[in-house]
Amino acid sequence: MSLFKTEGVVKRFGGLLATDNVSLTVEKGEIHALIGPNGAGKSTLVNLISGLIPADQGRTVLDGKDITGMPSHLRVRAGMARCFQVTNIFRQDTVLNNLMLAVQAHSGTSFRFLSRRSNELLLQEHAEQLAAKLDLTQHLHRIAGTLPHGVQRKLDVALALASRPKLLLLDEPMAGMGPEDSLQMVGIIRELRKETTILLIEHDMDAVFQLADRISVLVYGRILTSGTADEIRNHPQVQEVYLGTEDDAVEAMV
Ligand code: ADP
Ligand code: MG
Repeated sequence: MSLFKTEGVVKRFGGLLATDNVSLTVEKGEIHALIGPNGAGKSTLVNLISGLIPADQGRTVLDGKDITGMPSHLRVRAGMARCFQVTNIFRQDTVLNNLMLAVQAHSGTSFRFLSRRSNELLLQEHAEQLAAKLDLTQHLHRIAGTLPHGVQRKLDVALALASRPKLLLLDEPMAGMGPEDSLQMVGIIRELRKETTILLIEHDMDAVFQLADRISVLVYGRILTSGTADEIRNHPQVQEVYLGTEDDAVEAMV
Protein backbone atom coordinates (compact mmCIF):
# COMPACT_ATOMS: atom_id res chain seq x y z
CA MET A 1 0.00 0.00 0.00
CA SER A 2 1.28 3.46 -0.84
CA LEU A 3 1.81 5.93 2.00
CA PHE A 4 0.29 8.84 0.15
CA LYS A 5 -1.76 9.44 -2.95
CA THR A 6 -3.73 12.08 -4.75
CA GLU A 7 -6.40 11.06 -7.25
CA GLY A 8 -7.64 13.39 -9.95
CA VAL A 9 -6.77 16.58 -8.10
CA VAL A 10 -7.82 19.76 -9.88
CA LYS A 11 -7.15 23.42 -9.05
CA ARG A 12 -8.26 26.40 -11.12
CA PHE A 13 -7.20 30.01 -10.63
CA GLY A 14 -9.89 31.81 -12.62
CA GLY A 15 -9.44 30.55 -16.16
CA LEU A 16 -6.08 28.94 -15.46
CA LEU A 17 -5.99 25.19 -14.85
CA ALA A 18 -2.98 25.16 -12.49
CA THR A 19 -3.46 21.53 -11.41
CA ASP A 20 -4.94 19.34 -14.09
CA ASN A 21 -6.24 16.01 -12.87
CA VAL A 22 -3.11 15.07 -10.92
CA SER A 23 -2.79 11.54 -9.60
CA LEU A 24 0.41 10.96 -7.67
CA THR A 25 1.51 8.06 -5.52
CA VAL A 26 4.28 8.12 -2.92
CA GLU A 27 5.48 4.79 -1.55
CA LYS A 28 6.44 4.37 2.08
CA GLY A 29 10.14 5.06 2.66
CA GLU A 30 10.91 6.55 -0.73
CA ILE A 31 12.20 9.92 -1.76
CA HIS A 32 9.82 11.01 -4.47
CA ALA A 33 10.85 14.12 -6.38
CA LEU A 34 8.51 16.46 -8.20
CA ILE A 35 10.17 18.40 -10.99
CA GLY A 36 8.96 20.62 -13.79
CA PRO A 37 9.70 23.94 -15.47
CA ASN A 38 8.80 27.25 -13.84
CA GLY A 39 5.06 27.77 -13.70
CA ALA A 40 4.34 24.05 -14.11
CA GLY A 41 2.29 24.06 -10.92
CA LYS A 42 4.70 22.49 -8.42
CA SER A 43 4.09 24.98 -5.60
CA THR A 44 0.35 24.87 -6.22
CA LEU A 45 0.41 21.09 -5.90
CA VAL A 46 2.38 21.27 -2.65
CA ASN A 47 -0.08 23.84 -1.33
CA LEU A 48 -2.92 21.48 -2.21
CA ILE A 49 -1.19 18.48 -0.66
CA SER A 50 -0.43 20.33 2.57
CA GLY A 51 -3.98 21.70 2.75
CA LEU A 52 -2.91 25.33 2.50
CA ILE A 53 -5.37 25.85 -0.36
CA PRO A 54 -8.47 23.74 -1.12
CA ALA A 55 -8.70 21.61 -4.26
CA ASP A 56 -11.64 22.01 -6.65
CA GLN A 57 -11.80 18.28 -7.28
CA GLY A 58 -10.07 15.05 -6.39
CA ARG A 59 -9.16 12.93 -3.41
CA THR A 60 -6.13 12.83 -1.12
CA VAL A 61 -5.19 9.88 1.08
CA LEU A 62 -2.45 9.68 3.73
CA ASP A 63 -1.62 6.32 5.29
CA GLY A 64 -5.03 4.90 4.43
CA LYS A 65 -6.90 7.91 5.77
CA ASP A 66 -8.92 10.15 3.47
CA ILE A 67 -7.69 13.69 4.21
CA THR A 68 -9.51 15.43 1.34
CA GLY A 69 -10.75 18.83 2.49
CA MET A 70 -8.81 18.62 5.76
CA PRO A 71 -7.16 21.91 6.81
CA SER A 72 -3.39 21.99 7.14
CA HIS A 73 -3.15 21.85 10.94
CA LEU A 74 -5.14 18.60 10.95
CA ARG A 75 -2.97 17.22 8.15
CA VAL A 76 0.03 17.84 10.38
CA ARG A 77 -1.67 15.82 13.09
CA ALA A 78 -2.44 13.10 10.53
CA GLY A 79 1.30 12.81 9.84
CA MET A 80 2.26 15.35 7.21
CA ALA A 81 4.82 18.11 7.70
CA ARG A 82 6.02 20.77 5.38
CA CYS A 83 8.81 23.26 5.31
CA PHE A 84 7.61 26.79 4.91
CA GLN A 85 10.82 28.28 3.61
CA VAL A 86 11.84 29.89 6.91
CA THR A 87 8.53 31.68 7.48
CA ASN A 88 7.65 29.61 10.54
CA ILE A 89 10.83 30.48 12.40
CA PHE A 90 10.60 32.82 15.42
CA ARG A 91 13.34 35.11 14.27
CA GLN A 92 13.93 36.90 17.61
CA ASP A 93 14.32 33.65 19.51
CA THR A 94 17.23 31.23 19.77
CA VAL A 95 17.52 28.09 17.66
CA LEU A 96 17.10 26.02 20.84
CA ASN A 97 13.88 27.80 21.84
CA ASN A 98 12.50 27.48 18.32
CA LEU A 99 13.10 23.75 18.44
CA MET A 100 11.77 23.34 21.98
CA LEU A 101 8.55 25.17 21.08
CA ALA A 102 8.11 22.96 18.01
CA VAL A 103 8.67 19.78 20.01
CA GLN A 104 6.25 20.98 22.68
CA ALA A 105 3.60 21.89 20.09
CA HIS A 106 3.58 18.30 18.87
CA SER A 107 4.06 16.48 22.17
CA GLY A 108 0.31 16.38 22.91
CA THR A 109 -0.20 15.17 26.46
CA SER A 110 2.85 12.93 26.56
CA PHE A 111 4.77 15.07 29.07
CA ARG A 112 1.77 15.89 31.23
CA PHE A 113 2.68 13.83 34.30
CA LEU A 114 6.17 15.21 34.59
CA SER A 115 7.29 18.05 36.81
CA ARG A 116 7.95 21.34 35.10
CA ARG A 117 11.68 20.88 35.37
CA SER A 118 11.70 17.31 33.96
CA ASN A 119 9.38 18.48 31.22
CA GLU A 120 11.81 21.24 30.26
CA LEU A 121 14.73 18.82 30.26
CA LEU A 122 12.92 16.33 28.05
CA LEU A 123 11.93 19.06 25.61
CA GLN A 124 15.50 20.27 25.53
CA GLU A 125 16.78 16.75 24.92
CA HIS A 126 14.42 16.27 21.96
CA ALA A 127 15.33 19.70 20.61
CA GLU A 128 19.03 18.89 20.82
CA GLN A 129 18.49 15.59 19.01
CA LEU A 130 16.71 17.43 16.21
CA ALA A 131 19.50 20.01 16.06
CA ALA A 132 22.09 17.26 15.74
CA LYS A 133 20.24 15.70 12.79
CA LEU A 134 20.38 18.98 10.89
CA ASP A 135 23.90 19.87 11.99
CA LEU A 136 22.65 22.82 14.04
CA THR A 137 24.29 21.98 17.36
CA GLN A 138 26.85 24.77 17.14
CA HIS A 139 24.03 27.29 16.51
CA LEU A 140 21.69 26.30 19.36
CA HIS A 141 22.16 29.52 21.34
CA ARG A 142 22.19 31.90 18.39
CA ILE A 143 19.22 34.14 17.58
CA ALA A 144 17.56 32.40 14.62
CA GLY A 145 16.95 35.55 12.57
CA THR A 146 20.64 36.46 12.59
CA LEU A 147 21.82 33.17 11.07
CA PRO A 148 22.87 32.76 7.43
CA HIS A 149 20.13 31.73 5.02
CA GLY A 150 21.43 28.17 4.62
CA VAL A 151 21.35 27.60 8.38
CA GLN A 152 17.81 28.98 8.61
CA ARG A 153 16.74 26.53 5.91
CA LYS A 154 18.11 23.69 8.01
CA LEU A 155 16.28 25.00 11.07
CA ASP A 156 13.10 25.07 9.01
CA VAL A 157 13.53 21.38 8.18
CA ALA A 158 14.24 20.59 11.83
CA LEU A 159 11.03 22.37 12.87
CA ALA A 160 9.04 20.32 10.36
CA LEU A 161 10.61 17.12 11.71
CA ALA A 162 9.51 17.99 15.24
CA SER A 163 6.04 16.62 14.44
CA ARG A 164 7.59 13.24 13.56
CA PRO A 165 5.87 13.21 10.16
CA LYS A 166 5.10 10.12 8.10
CA LEU A 167 5.40 12.31 5.03
CA LEU A 168 7.76 15.29 4.85
CA LEU A 169 7.17 17.85 2.09
CA LEU A 170 10.32 19.69 1.10
CA ASP A 171 9.62 22.62 -1.22
CA GLU A 172 12.94 23.61 -2.78
CA PRO A 173 15.12 23.03 0.30
CA MET A 174 18.24 24.08 -1.63
CA ALA A 175 16.77 27.36 -2.92
CA GLY A 176 19.16 30.25 -2.37
CA MET A 177 21.91 27.98 -1.03
CA GLY A 178 25.49 27.98 -2.21
CA PRO A 179 27.08 24.78 -3.55
CA GLU A 180 28.57 23.84 -0.18
CA ASP A 181 25.29 24.14 1.73
CA SER A 182 23.44 22.33 -1.08
CA LEU A 183 25.84 19.44 -0.89
CA GLN A 184 25.37 19.26 2.86
CA MET A 185 21.59 19.35 2.47
CA VAL A 186 21.77 16.39 0.08
CA GLY A 187 23.57 14.44 2.80
CA ILE A 188 21.03 15.48 5.41
CA ILE A 189 18.05 14.49 3.25
CA ARG A 190 19.68 11.14 2.59
CA GLU A 191 19.83 10.58 6.37
CA LEU A 192 16.26 11.79 6.94
CA ARG A 193 14.85 9.17 4.61
CA LYS A 194 15.69 6.56 7.25
CA GLU A 195 12.92 7.94 9.43
CA THR A 196 10.40 9.46 7.04
CA THR A 197 9.02 9.39 3.52
CA ILE A 198 9.91 12.47 1.52
CA LEU A 199 8.22 14.37 -1.28
CA LEU A 200 10.91 16.66 -2.63
CA ILE A 201 10.24 19.61 -4.90
CA GLU A 202 13.57 20.82 -6.15
CA HIS A 203 15.08 22.88 -8.93
CA ASP A 204 18.57 21.55 -8.42
CA MET A 205 18.60 18.63 -10.84
CA ASP A 206 21.89 17.26 -9.60
CA ALA A 207 20.35 16.93 -6.16
CA VAL A 208 17.16 15.39 -7.56
CA PHE A 209 19.00 12.75 -9.55
CA GLN A 210 21.24 11.94 -6.60
CA LEU A 211 18.42 11.58 -4.11
CA ALA A 212 15.19 10.48 -5.70
CA ASP A 213 13.97 6.89 -5.90
CA ARG A 214 11.24 8.05 -8.23
CA ILE A 215 10.59 11.30 -10.03
CA SER A 216 7.33 12.76 -11.30
CA VAL A 217 7.46 15.40 -14.00
CA LEU A 218 4.85 18.13 -13.92
CA VAL A 219 4.17 20.16 -17.06
CA TYR A 220 1.32 22.64 -17.46
CA GLY A 221 -0.30 21.31 -14.32
CA ARG A 222 -0.24 17.68 -15.48
CA ILE A 223 1.94 14.72 -14.58
CA LEU A 224 3.81 14.00 -17.81
CA THR A 225 5.39 10.84 -16.44
CA SER A 226 6.66 9.18 -13.25
CA GLY A 227 9.65 6.87 -13.07
CA THR A 228 13.12 6.15 -11.76
CA ALA A 229 15.93 8.66 -12.30
CA ASP A 230 17.16 6.63 -15.28
CA GLU A 231 13.71 6.42 -16.83
CA ILE A 232 13.22 10.16 -16.45
CA ARG A 233 16.69 11.00 -17.75
CA ASN A 234 16.06 8.97 -20.92
CA HIS A 235 12.47 10.04 -21.46
CA PRO A 236 12.35 11.90 -24.80
CA GLN A 237 9.43 14.13 -23.83
CA VAL A 238 11.09 15.13 -20.58
CA GLN A 239 14.23 16.21 -22.43
CA GLU A 240 12.03 18.15 -24.84
CA VAL A 241 10.26 19.94 -21.99
CA TYR A 242 13.52 21.07 -20.46
CA LEU A 243 15.28 21.88 -23.70
CA GLY A 244 15.61 25.61 -24.20
CA THR A 245 13.88 26.35 -20.91
CA GLU A 246 16.41 25.32 -18.29
CA ASP A 247 19.87 24.63 -19.60
CA ASP A 248 21.18 23.56 -16.20
CA ALA A 249 18.51 20.92 -16.02
CA VAL A 250 19.45 19.44 -19.37
CA GLU A 251 23.11 19.46 -18.42
CA ALA A 252 22.34 17.61 -15.23
CA MET A 253 20.27 15.04 -17.11
CA VAL A 254 22.73 14.15 -19.86
P1 ADP B 1 5.78 26.33 -10.06
O1 ADP B 1 5.88 26.23 -8.59
O2 ADP B 1 5.92 25.03 -10.77
O3 ADP B 1 6.73 27.35 -10.64
P2 ADP B 1 3.19 27.49 -9.50
O4 ADP B 1 2.40 26.44 -8.82
O5 ADP B 1 3.76 28.55 -8.66
O6 ADP B 1 4.30 26.83 -10.43
O7 ADP B 1 2.24 28.19 -10.58
C1 ADP B 1 1.48 27.48 -11.53
C2 ADP B 1 0.61 28.44 -12.29
O8 ADP B 1 -0.44 28.90 -11.45
C3 ADP B 1 1.36 29.68 -12.78
O9 ADP B 1 0.84 30.04 -14.04
C4 ADP B 1 1.02 30.71 -11.72
O10 ADP B 1 1.06 32.01 -12.26
C5 ADP B 1 -0.39 30.32 -11.32
N1 ADP B 1 -0.73 30.63 -9.94
C6 ADP B 1 -0.13 30.14 -8.83
N2 ADP B 1 -0.71 30.60 -7.72
C7 ADP B 1 -1.72 31.42 -8.12
C8 ADP B 1 -2.72 32.20 -7.44
N3 ADP B 1 -2.81 32.22 -6.10
N4 ADP B 1 -3.58 32.91 -8.20
C9 ADP B 1 -3.52 32.88 -9.54
N5 ADP B 1 -2.62 32.16 -10.25
C10 ADP B 1 -1.74 31.44 -9.56
MG1 MG C 1 7.28 27.04 -7.22
